Amino acid sequence: MSWQSFPKIELHLHHEGAAPPDFIRRLAQEKSVNLSGVFAEDGSYAFRDFAHFLQVYEAATGVLKTPDDYARLTATVLERAAEHGVIYCESFLSPDFCGGRDLGAWREYLHAIQEAAAHAEAQTGVTLRGIVTCIRHFGPDKARETAICAAETAGDWIVGFGMGGDETRGRQGDFAWAFDCAREAGLKLTTHAGEFGGPDAVRQALDDLRVDRIGHGVRAIEDPALVDRLAGSGTVLEVCPRSNLALRLYPDMRAHPVERLRAAGVRVTVNTDDPPFFRTTMTREYEALERAFGWDEEVFTQIARTALEAAFCDDATRERLAKRLEAGLKAAT
Ligand SMILES: [Zn+2]
Repeated sequence: MSWQSFPKIELHLHHEGAAPPDFIRRLAQEKSVNLSGVFAEDGSYAFRDFAHFLQVYEAATGVLKTPDDYARLTATVLERAAEHGVIYCESFLSPDFCGGRDLGAWREYLHAIQEAAAHAEAQTGVTLRGIVTCIRHFGPDKARETAICAAETAGDWIVGFGMGGDETRGRQGDFAWAFDCAREAGLKLTTHAGEFGGPDAVRQALDDLRVDRIGHGVRAIEDPALVDRLAGSGTVLEVCPRSNLALRLYPDMRAHPVERLRAAGVRVTVNTDDPPFFRTTMTREYEALERAFGWDEEVFTQIARTALEAAFCDDATRERLAKRLEAGLKAAT
């Protein structure tokens, strides 16, 4: 079947990383920024390996410089999400890129993003919520400033706090102050762990940061005791299968551990991470999972329900979305 219109919930999406190449190209032209080397001949983003990916990502997303740029990006991201049946999406927003962690500037960016999201929701029906994200390789001191931005703007729109960036730098526990600050402000927590780091990184995330969800977490599969622990605690993994393939964690989808984790009782969700960079969409993720593992409507229904249960939004929003999700599932199956 075609998965495009099947109702979906996405929990792991980097706002800048969701910028389509034609959007970035147009913005670069408007600002007379030279982006040679960023695009392949077919117009997509071009990178050779993880180090080069980070360079290309930084160059491309570096053209996003003002609240208005982020407002336009938000509208584009939600239009694309709607095309793939997404009804609810949480995206990672970084005060590092939105105003250099200055609280006043961050509020301006956030205001522009929220306004654009409300307008786009009216047009597309996609609900967006934000997770403020610190950047691991910028270090714990900057993460504190980011956490303060998160705490000061926590509410029914900024619903979570997380950490992205280079997982091989430092330890999760180095960022405990930032995560404690966010938790005290009522935010739910997630962190990238068990993508480039092994099972120990997932353990650190659970023990030292006490997160509610894990970004990726797939390398937990290397430790059966940890898989049991995740299944027992019901911790939800934000799995991004095609991102893991694009960054060469696994040679192909059949080698990806998402099905083994699911079969072991771990609550998994399906997400796109930085979709245009990894030449993916939510529809392509679903198609690839069906091809590799024979996942069907029943499995994808469970995935969508799990994702909504694990969403960081308030309960009123969750109830409203649950009605939409169930109606959409009924229509699709
Ligand atoms: Zn990510």
